[in-house]
Amino acid sequence: MRKMNFAAGPSVMPLDVLEELQKNLVDYKGKGLSMIEASHRGGMFEEMYDECLADFRELLSIPDDYDVYFLGGGATLQFTMIPMNFLLKGTHADYLKTGSWANKAADDAEKLGDVNTLFDGKDSGYTTLPEPESVKPSEGASYLYLCSNETIGGIEWQSFPDTGDVPLIADMSSDFLSRPVDVKNFAMIYGGVQKNLGPAGAVFIIMRHDMLDKRNSNLTAYMDYAKHAKNKGLYNTPPVFSIWAVSLVLKWIKANGGAEGMLKNAIEKSGYIYDVIDSSDFYRSPVDKRYRSRMNVVFRCPSEELEAKFVDEAKKEGMLGLKGHRSVGGLRASLYNALPMEDAASLAAFMKEFERRNG
Ligand code: PMP
Repeated sequence: MRKMNFAAGPSVMPLDVLEELQKNLVDYKGKGLSMIEASHRGGMFEEMYDECLADFRELLSIPDDYDVYFLGGGATLQFTMIPMNFLLKGTHADYLKTGSWANKAADDAEKLGDVNTLFDGKDSGYTTLPEPESVKPSEGASYLYLCSNETIGGIEWQSFPDTGDVPLIADMSSDFLSRPVDVKNFAMIYGGVQKNLGPAGAVFIIMRHDMLDKRNSNLTAYMDYAKHAKNKGLYNTPPVFSIWAVSLVLKWIKANGGAEGMLKNAIEKSGYIYDVIDSSDFYRSPVDKRYRSRMNVVFRCPSEELEAKFVDEAKKEGMLGLKGHRSVGGLRASLYNALPMEDAASLAAFMKEFERRNG
């Protein structure tokens, strides 16, 4: 029996996709070899990859003047590549420090150039975001950087700032394709695939092509986005297995209502959990209601002992991954696209029962 997987990433995959991978792992569609044995310069991989990129574009109606491709190195490598390419000497970049992930990106950028902190959520313990309308890029900023969903803190932008001519760059690792996004409002969107899109290994990059004109062109090969854009991510060997799995997940998303369908499910799934929290004096959500994440629901019990007990007992019921990140403690239920609706309902029922016994 499969467990209910509420882990923050790597995380639950659609069962159909796992089965499809299993079916084709040894002999890809009767071709006599596995996709992970095939050259990334050969037809078998390229056919799959081209279809993957086409599905990717279709799901968010990505305009033609954006390059789309996959890289390795985790989302973390982008914390470095972005400033290396766009934070040129004599310029500065605006960062919104909204929690662990945006802050890590800002820390790396600070090592490479001049960072202007437009917002710092420190005083609230990173439980809230600035009003999008209040976010104005500073004069001369080379880009404005934000993280659309703080996976650890459980806060998510519900709409995005209008940054005018200043390129807006977003880390969407943990809420990508959980809702429609108007790509043309961003100069760059990127993210690790290991939450909503597939197994760890690949990072997706969506970048408006004219950003390459603004980049530092004196970089080592891998660091230079132009090299990757020109080769649609095949400058070097890409993370083949991860991309293959992503290609299947994209088809699964298409078959399940696309980004709109994912949003509908995300509202319903997170609604189950937030409803329990809101109707209880036992559970507490530390985050500003306006910016509650639909992907990572962070909550607390009255004591750390009860939280440990919650994790233990949930595990016995087949519910995994509910412990909050070690940096913040508490509990966290990640409800990514592939988490079945019934699992969110089961968790809500378990929460009520746990409260009844311990409240
Ligand atoms: N950004 C966000 C929002 C994340 O949640 C994570 C990982 N959990 C990262 C960046 C870092 O990703 P990676 O481990 O792929 O480097």
